[in-house]
Amino acid sequence: MTSVQVAETVKELQLYLEKARISNLTIGFVPTMGFLHEGHASLINTSTKQRDVTVVSIYVNPLQFDPDEDFDKYPKDISSDLDLCNEHGVDIVFMPSEEEMKPFLSEESLKLRGIVKIFEGESRPVHFQGVATVVKALFEIVGSSYAFFGEKDFQQLVLVKQLVDDYLLPVQVIGCPIIRENDGLAKSSRNVYLDSAEREQSAVIYQSLKAGAEAISKGETSIKNIEQLIKKTVETSPLANIDYVAVVDPLTFEIPNSIKNEVRLLVACNFGQARLIDNILAQREVVSS
Ligand code: AMP
Repeated sequence: MTSVQVAETVKELQLYLEKARISNLTIGFVPTMGFLHEGHASLINTSTKQRDVTVVSIYVNPLQFDPDEDFDKYPKDISSDLDLCNEHGVDIVFMPSEEEMKPFLSEESLKLRGIVKIFEGESRPVHFQGVATVVKALFEIVGSSYAFFGEKDFQQLVLVKQLVDDYLLPVQVIGCPIIRENDGLAKSSRNVYLDSAEREQSAVIYQSLKAGAEAISKGETSIKNIEQLIKKTVETSPLANIDYVAVVDPLTFEIPNSIKNEVRLLVACNFGQARLIDNILAQREVVSS
């Protein structure tokens, strides 16, 4: 039996949060698209540890799917999601319908920075405008809060931080580490699309990122060499179909001329029906004198 409170309307959620604020409680917010797994649970755990009240939203945002993507078949299991929320001490789950969200969505395109056009933004042209529109609406609905996002979607995390800065939203965004399967595959709701051969070979993504990070820690400074190393490692899997491999500055998302200190290594790759993304922080080893 699940006892976590569920709000299907903005009014119900805001009434709950108003009471919390009157009691001086701080609010943690974890936006999700449901089909929750241990990656989501780790964001929830961070929120419940750091904040008094934790809100989880479950909303499969139609605006962030391109027309040829998996919106219609995006996996769902509300009862298991509510159980997970209950087990992890969530106070309230916000599950609005599309109609409920509509009045809160900006009708005009938001002004977003150049990050929306590259990598994920280039492969999925409407994606980040859709993410930003719904995240902004959710932040305005929830109000002053601390929002927990996974580094799994690293470009999204940077975009959301920029959105908060540019639109002066009353939210502090906190990035949380990537949770992985035993073989290193980043947990994702979309992993259910993998058949057993694809699932087995998909571990190559993390192996390629680790190989890149290790080469950087040992002194490799060439972006090209790192990209090639990552590509070559992924290509050892016959089922992998690389979309992009990139080395970027973790704050600006610009591609540096060479690797001087910290960079993020990014991979996007298709395995059959599943589009998988992953990333890792890589650093030159600091040699102390
Ligand atoms: P989603 O439901 O896929 O939209 O994800 C909701 C939030 O969970 C986003 O902030 C994701 O980055 C985060 N998330 C998804 N998978 C993981 C993971 N394996 N580790 C950490 N965070 C994750």
